[in-house]
Amino acid sequence: MRYQIDYEKGIVNRGNLFRMKELMKKAANGEKLVLGFLGGSITQGCLSSTPETCYAYHVFEWWKKQFPEAEFEYVNAGIGGTTSQFGVARAQSDLLSYKPDFVIVEFSVNDDSTEHFMETYEGLVRKIYDSETKPAMLLVHNVCYDTGANAQLMHARVGRYYDLPSVSMQSTIYEEVKAGRLPNREITQDDLHPNDAGHSLVASVITYFLSKVFDVMDEAELPAPELRAPFTYNDYEDSVRYDNRNSKPELNGFAADTSKQEGITDCFKNGWSASKVGDSIRFELRGGSIAVQYRKTMNKPAPVAEVVIDGDTEHAYRLDANFDETWGDKLELETVAEHLENKLHTVDIRIVEASEKDQNGFDLISVIVSGSHKAKKTSEELIFLDPALTHNIWGGSKLRTEYGYPVEGDDIGECWGISAHPNGDGVIREGAFKGMHLSELWAKNPELFGNPTEDRFPLLIKIIDAKADLSIQVHPNDEYALKNENGSLGKTECWYVLDCPENASLVIGHNASTREELKEMIEQKRWSELIREIPIRKGDFIQIDPGTVHAIKGGFQILETQQNSDITYRVYDYDRLSNGKPRELHVQKSIDVITVPAKPVGESVRSVNGLPLNRLNLLYSCNYYSVFKLEVSGNTQVEQKYPFLLMTVVSGQGSVNGHLLKKGDHFIAPADCKSLNFEGNMQIIASTR
Ligand code: ZN
Repeated sequence: MRYQIDYEKGIVNRGNLFRMKELMKKAANGEKLVLGFLGGSITQGCLSSTPETCYAYHVFEWWKKQFPEAEFEYVNAGIGGTTSQFGVARAQSDLLSYKPDFVIVEFSVNDDSTEHFMETYEGLVRKIYDSETKPAMLLVHNVCYDTGANAQLMHARVGRYYDLPSVSMQSTIYEEVKAGRLPNREITQDDLHPNDAGHSLVASVITYFLSKVFDVMDEAELPAPELRAPFTYNDYEDSVRYDNRNSKPELNGFAADTSKQEGITDCFKNGWSASKVGDSIRFELRGGSIAVQYRKTMNKPAPVAEVVIDGDTEHAYRLDANFDETWGDKLELETVAEHLENKLHTVDIRIVEASEKDQNGFDLISVIVSGSHKAKKTSEELIFLDPALTHNIWGGSKLRTEYGYPVEGDDIGECWGISAHPNGDGVIREGAFKGMHLSELWAKNPELFGNPTEDRFPLLIKIIDAKADLSIQVHPNDEYALKNENGSLGKTECWYVLDCPENASLVIGHNASTREELKEMIEQKRWSELIREIPIRKGDFIQIDPGTVHAIKGGFQILETQQNSDITYRVYDYDRLSNGKPRELHVQKSIDVITVPAKPVGESVRSVNGLPLNRLNLLYSCNYYSVFKLEVSGNTQVEQKYPFLLMTVVSGQGSVNGHLLKKGDHFIAPADCKSLNFEGNMQIIASTR
């Protein structure tokens, strides 16, 4: 045999099999059952030679053969060139109205691998899972056979979150194509649509899994889980599609198309058409996300239209009906607004370009409005920040190479990840507060932070990459800083060691037993006698009270949580030069504020590896902050009961409430965001006031 498919590898997620086993028992009892297939062109059977050689039909035949006493109805709801965003809007009419007992969902080559399509796919999966017949579901991930691309990363997240079985062509058929054992052209003409042989292979990956379930159908299974809270913004679950059968828009030149629709793939029907510049149509619709569906045609030239939401002509959206492909006309779905406030919006569509030569009019097919009642309030949205980066003589390049921050140079010492300090005031990256500085958000939207009494954002979260040793330093407490530093705050800080060399150490504390001895040692530069070095390993946590002599050494990467202050007294700088001169030392102030004798080692350093998974483990709590470590493994919901929670992903990747997360991401969970739905494998350091 030239190729061998590893069918076991095709099982991306076994999932909870309760519904599937119950369905098989019903089939064994000879009941009448409906098998539904929802997807794009592959489900529709685009390049299969007959409807009966499509994978979906093969799966239907497997059920018939396996359960000859039962009676099965076949519902194929595939429409070529369409995404799960359209899928969720048509799920009721094209699939759920048939009351399916079993549903395959297939959109992984139609959707792009983006957060937007993770949200639309989640909405679709939720809608089917919780529909009247509570069908058994199987997610099928097809793949492009030239590049291996699909949306499996996003779609499989949804599958794992809802504990649904899913199978993949990426880890089965494509593996053989990639290895050169199975030539693409044997199974697909265009590397996307399987031919008859390809459809048989796709079906075999699916029926292998179904056969495995069949073998254990009498074994006990936990009940199917209740539908969990959504993990994305979930604006799409309640999508409503408006065409000329269920809406009465204001028409100025547009006319309703009342010709009869022949089946679901006759998809350009029931809309409105126009052909002259200035022709327009106006909808008033309630929701938060708005998409417009129209025909892109090969019969060029064709008109161009513009969409304006709520009269905002500055952000008009262009809909060009000219299609540069030759394979047919396309039903285009354009998202023109997403996650707006859930209220009545006006949608104006107007022809802006047309000519005598036009072969086709502009065909508006529908307007899809989503998020009719489930949209979250702005105050519940996570706040992501773009960090500020600093150049330092002791800095390195790992903040770029290992944490992915877009910054040039090999002297990058610090990433101020969550900061409202004037020397590096973070900027909100997305959402309702996009572009605002954190200091401004704190001042203008105190409700996000539990209505604090402080007028300044109290904390500062940094990632530090030390290529060389930092100076040996000490920070004052609030009382001393207030008196001696123009009313500034003192500085309490703590470190979580992200990485360090083997047998490394840090400077924490000193060996003088009285203040006189301390003064003598500093004045006589007896540094090696004075300085206390403590062995440190990756994953250690270190609390640095004010008055503690400390220094980070070369080779360390550290996550620092600290009071929002920058007052540092340099005790010793290894006699280094910066721009030809030694940096300023603060000998007298240091002697004033250093705690004598130093706190015992055991009270400031502890290893925090191996803590329980999927919960906020408190590492330290003082007057200024509480710091937690959270290790996410799989799916988990974490309660957010603090005025706000600052979070930094220090390793791994995954998602939270539908936002993708990777190492180096910083975000704030505001007061109203009570629940954090995590997915993935990652370590997070969190803190609150
Ligand atoms: Zn410090």
